[in-house]
Amino acid sequence: MGEFDLIARYFTRPTPRAVLGVGDDCALLQPAPGTQMAISCDMLVQGRHFFADVDPAALGHKALAVNLSDLAACGATPLAFTLALALPLADDAWLAPFSRGLLALADAHGCELVGGDTTQGPLNICITVFGEVPVVHGRSQALLRSGARAGDDVYVSGTLGDARLALDALRGTRALPATVLAEARQRLEQPTPRVALGQALRGVASAAIDVSDGLLGDLRHILKASGVGATIDTSIAINLIASCTHKDWATGLISLNNQLEYVLAGGDDYELAFTAPASAREAVQAAARQAHTPVTRIGRIEPEAGLRLIDGQGQALPPHSFASFDHFA
Ligand code: ADP
Ligand code: MG
Repeated sequence: MGEFDLIARYFTRPTPRAVLGVGDDCALLQPAPGTQMAISCDMLVQGRHFFADVDPAALGHKALAVNLSDLAACGATPLAFTLALALPLADDAWLAPFSRGLLALADAHGCELVGGDTTQGPLNICITVFGEVPVVHGRSQALLRSGARAGDDVYVSGTLGDARLALDALRGTRALPATVLAEARQRLEQPTPRVALGQALRGVASAAIDVSDGLLGDLRHILKASGVGATIDTSIAINLIASCTHKDWATGLISLNNQLEYVLAGGDDYELAFTAPASAREAVQAAARQAHTPVTRIGRIEPEAGLRLIDGQGQALPPHSFASFDHFA
């Protein structure tokens, strides 16, 4: 199978929304009137972001999911994406499930594959997504990192920490009951981008980010961009690790401090962390219901810079090193 057969067989689809898809030198997109384009790019490298033997269908899903998660964080509606792919060899047994996993998620979000590049080389997947955000009275409705204000509440969607728990188990540094691993592994390998929630939070949230490197590290990006600080209630946050909640096994196997570490600094969660004024509490819950995505209020934005952690009694926690992921740290 040659390069162009491969593209035709696995990566060429009808593109009703795009003006022009795969096959020419450029794709053509037409943003709807009154919208601006949101663009994001994420690369997945074998050995760094995934294991060589990972299920190709799950990998296809995740490669697009991490990009859709960035659109979600901006409140953008997915429109299209491009796929730059380096492959060691043109193997149908890999390409078929990979493109199936990728395109199933794309179809679920009406996000059209409109172009890309294909080359021989060590497996590397780079996707660029394009989304739309409304502009109302000349103002972009995009959710940015810079909009948090003192007094705002801090929220996070869904659950946190399970992806990292699965990663530790797969690396062999932690033993998990098989059923727990299966559940946690699903979170690691097939994350759900919170696209509907991001859109529902437009005009409600004051700032947002998607949690890819760990909650605290990603929250710090909001704090820095907004010039504020925050206090997080760890007695609420600790309940966000789904695989350890109300399960007797976890108590013996994973210390509370470790559970908290997974929640606060696990990474690969692809949930949304966001802020909203206290006056918007009902609107936030309405957005969560509309998006069928639970959200939990875990803290508050304050004028003093820095991120503080408290326990259930409001006592400051001793400084921990809940370090978030950094490729070059
Ligand atoms: P060019 O030489 O102009 O860069 P290519 O020969 O690389 O174009 O690609 C031919 C067409 O196939 C282009 O429309 C390109 O966008 C598309 N394409 C190439 N690789 C992929 C891929 N992995 N997925 C989707 N479209 C692709
Ligand atoms: Mg090319």
